Amino acid sequence: MLDLASLTDFLSRPRKVVITTHHKPDGDAMGSSLGLYNYLIQQGHHTTVITPTDYPDFLTWMPGNEEVVIFTQQQELSAKLVAEAEIIFCLDFNSLNRINELGELVRQTTAYKVMIDHHLEPEDFDDYRHWDINACAAAQLVYTFIVDQLNNRALINKDVATCLYTGIMTDSASFRLPNTTSDVHRIVADLIDAGANNSRIHELVYNSASENRLRFLGHCLANCLEILPEFNTAIISVNKQDLQRFDVNTGDTEGIVNYALSIASIRLAAFIVERTDRVKLSLRSKGEFPANEICKKYFAGGGHRNAAGGQSDESLEATVEKFKSILPEYKKLLIQ
Ligand code: 5GP
Ligand code: MN
Repeated sequence: MLDLASLTDFLSRPRKVVITTHHKPDGDAMGSSLGLYNYLIQQGHHTTVITPTDYPDFLTWMPGNEEVVIFTQQQELSAKLVAEAEIIFCLDFNSLNRINELGELVRQTTAYKVMIDHHLEPEDFDDYRHWDINACAAAQLVYTFIVDQLNNRALINKDVATCLYTGIMTDSASFRLPNTTSDVHRIVADLIDAGANNSRIHELVYNSASENRLRFLGHCLANCLEILPEFNTAIISVNKQDLQRFDVNTGDTEGIVNYALSIASIRLAAFIVERTDRVKLSLRSKGEFPANEICKKYFAGGGHRNAAGGQSDESLEATVEKFKSILPEYKKLLIQ
């Protein structure tokens, strides 16, 4: 275990640092990782961000992106960097199975492991933990780590601010979710003061879709949406052929589930997609409904109360049926 004073002392000399984040990284995963990267390089640390898999094009514009190592594309280099690291920051996840094969490599090293995260039920693999499930984003926790714990507001430069703003914006669904507190808005205001161009960041993330992605969205809403009024639930299910037909790339499916949730009566929305290796579920809910409980109990997953995910080894049809068969158990919560 490390306390803050020892960690601060450890970081007072240049170190070999690895930052890693969950597979299929989202805006918060990349924003928090590159935010911390842009902070650490200012202090002379030899820092590398390693992602377990690739990530969407709408996240590749962030400062430091060109230095990111993608494990699936550079396995040997990734293993070498992890083995040589003196300290490994684990951002936006809290269980090593969320980083695929990288998990075992991280577990085996003697490097200090620092977890900065906001998910429930952390696994005990870390030496230092900055963890708060009330945080709206891991990027928010990277901000408080730098500013409140390391006392280094002066190093929140434009690059750090840009990345952290992106993480908070995407994970709070553009400052909409209930955990977007006044403290979050104060942090975001400070990031804008530090150089984050909020309007440009919004353009880069949300207005950079391909024609295919928009046509795919149209297809999902017109042909793949099923409403279950007796459970205030909506399901969008998409098969492999549809993914091929619309040339759907990493990230193109992100956010589609929110359209189903935008219907006034809907309390629970599911996006269920047949990927090459397995069926993946993305659940979103309103208010108190625990989407993460369904994912944890039935679909080998987890997440937050209002945004969770999981998977299934069964067929798409069987997974949709399984999902529907669970709803009666939650009927009371869904119709209140
Ligand atoms: P998404 O639906 O965007 O893939 O995931 C929403 C949230 O659910 C993520 O922020 C992540 O916390 C969680 N999540 C998604 N998939 C999984 C999974 O397979 N396992 C766990 N534990 N959490 C997941
Ligand atoms: Mn997050």
